[in-house]
Amino acid sequence: MVLRTGTRVPYDLLVLATGATHSYFVHPEWANAAPGLKTIADARLIRSEVLRCFEQAEITEDPAERERLMTCAVVGGGATGVEMAGAIAELARYTLAKDFRNIRTERANVVLIEAGPRLLTAFPEHLAAYAHDRLRRLGVTVLLNSPVKHLSADSLIVGDRSIAAGATIWAAGVAASPAAHWIGVTAGAAGRIPVAPDLSVIGMPDIFAIGDVALALDEHGKPLPGLAQVAKQEGMYLGHALARRMPRPFPPLRYHSRGNTAVIGRKLAWILTGGNVPHATTLTEDQVLDLEREAFVSLCGERKTQERIAAMLKTGKPLRN
Ligand SMILES: Cc1cc2nc3c(=O)[nH]c(=O)nc-3n(C[C@H](O)[C@H](O)[C@H](O)COP(=O)(O)OP(=O)(O)OC[C@H]3O[C@@H](n4cnc5c(N)ncnc54)[C@H](O)[C@@H]3O)c2cc1C
Repeated sequence: MVLRTGTRVPYDLLVLATGATHSYFVHPEWANAAPGLKTIADARLIRSEVLRCFEQAEITEDPAERERLMTCAVVGGGATGVEMAGAIAELARYTLAKDFRNIRTERANVVLIEAGPRLLTAFPEHLAAYAHDRLRRLGVTVLLNSPVKHLSADSLIVGDRSIAAGATIWAAGVAASPAAHWIGVTAGAAGRIPVAPDLSVIGMPDIFAIGDVALALDEHGKPLPGLAQVAKQEGMYLGHALARRMPRPFPPLRYHSRGNTAVIGRKLAWILTGGNVPHATTLTEDQVLDLEREAFVSLCGERKTQERIAAMLKTGKPLRN
């Protein structure tokens, strides 16, 4: 292995865990106009862009320019886009509402643009519909079936429509770091490295790949999602196997989903617990309000997990893994 400094690092076994980054598909030039969120530095950049727009809107005397600066577009209706649109709408509606004299930040136009027919395609439809409704109630305009055709620093073209926007945030695509290319294997979906059940790279038993850069399959042949809990379990599994010098091939990784959350706004999220119970029990909103938290919880996990989540909602104390 050769580092950027030129240093050569010999290895017996190599573990690749170089993660993923944003993908602008065939439009890398859109990256400058629409930052994505991956790192703390990205988050700071996005926050300063949104604040800059409001500050310029405060001083401009051109009504059309003011409207543009008070429009924020979020591209991509997955979990990141939903969370981002909700957070910006709440920032405008609550946090900044008293900070300006000439503009009403609560009237900011947050537009969430999704190419597909619904939000949150990786999650059950009723939870996606709930998120959609709550975003709408927060004042977010959700555009479905609306692939972005063109994007520049001050506008987007979506279908036949042009949207003038002060800030555009990219949450529409993720691609693995180019590790497949480094080691000369054919990449799978989203550029990920196909791995065997023991996380070794297929055809390269001395190299392992874990986390977002790896394309590992569960016992039903379904790709494991690009989630922290997958990366963490893979890291622990491989660390144990390597530390114990277990005979090869290692017994296959068994991934256990601990559930998923989508945060829509303040005190507003849904939690889909893990587990293999075939039917889902959904709390009604009234039941949730009884728990004194504005959340929508779909419980399809083990009873113990259900009880822990109910306790969390009651006490407001976070769950410990
Ligand atoms: C906005 C957002 C929200 C998310 N929310 C959730 C969530 O709620 N729940 C959840 O489970 N997951 C969530 N995820 C996904 C989660 O962050 C990833 O699945 C997880 O970080 C993957 O871990 P990893 O170690 O594979 O990669 P990363 O955490 O990306 O780490 C890879 C590391 O490798 C380094 N690296 C890259 N290239 C090189 C190189 N050439 N040489 C050396 N180092 C290199 C990078 O700098 C980075 O530090 C979210 C991701 C994003 C972006």
